[in-house]
Amino acid sequence: MTYDHSNIFARILRKEIPSRTVYEDDYALAFYDIAPQAPIHVLVIPKGPYVSIADFSATASADDITGFWRAVAKVAEAEGLTKDGFRLISNSGANSGQEVPHFHVHLFGGAALGPLLS
Ligand code: 5GP
Repeated sequence: MTYDHSNIFARILRKEIPSRTVYEDDYALAFYDIAPQAPIHVLVIPKGPYVSIADFSATASADDITGFWRAVAKVAEAEGLTKDGFRLISNSGANSGQEVPHFHVHLFGGAALGPLLS
């Protein structure tokens, strides 16, 4: 799938629209979801133009993949979620309901989250 450079997360990366930044480094940007579904709901996105996790895994460099997942772990730590636990979800494609075509990981925490598919 071709990457759409006008998608909302690309615009957030370019600072064209604001977001509540949690963490940023050379590999990733993390910001609070605009419609949180848990007490803590952060989106972590890579800085490169990847549509989904399959695209990211197949085409990003090893350094970019490592840097991204390290950033996810840093965000969980910075949000104080490592002791009580947290959940990561990444929607990919139509069946998942993926809304924004820029690879992202949802990080949920801050409470007991219940069953995964409810
Ligand atoms: P998806 O369904 O693609 O996995 O999730 C996209 C997420 O992006 C949703 O949870 C939605 O609330 C969030 N979102 C959509 N637009 C914006 C925005 O402009 N700012 C922020 N912070 N989150 C957004």
